[in-house]
Amino acid sequence: MTDTLFTRIIAREIPADIVYEDDHVLGFRDIAPQAPVHVLFIPKKHIATLNDLAAEDTELAGRLILAAAAYAKSEGFADKGYRTVFNCNGDGGQAVYHIHLHLLAGRQLGWPPG
Ligand code: AMP
Repeated sequence: MTDTLFTRIIAREIPADIVYEDDHVLGFRDIAPQAPVHVLFIPKKHIATLNDLAAEDTELAGRLILAAAAYAKSEGFADKGYRTVFNCNGDGGQAVYHIHLHLLAGRQLGWPPG
């Protein structure tokens, strides 16, 4: 299934609060933020889950992490700290089947996660 909520955000068919964009990656605010900062970084290429990443996606996967770190630096909270999370499939809590890196910041985050 390639027509997900996030592919529709990439196509600008659904509005989103976009905070980051380059040729390969889109970053937008989560609609139900779990922290003062909660941004999702997604590849423009549809990949359903982490299990579907192929060797050819190595650079793209790295781009998601680099985009999140660049955003943290540009917004001034990189030194204070933040968390990045990929949820995968049911037990991981994945709800949207287009991979996305959650970037959470702005409060002390608990560990272990629920
Ligand atoms: P996950 O549970 O890891 O699949 O995360 C999906 C995330 O997408 C959740 O944190 C939702 O709050 C978020 N979400 C769902 N719909 C939207 C939307 N239209 N715009 C922004 N974020 C969304």
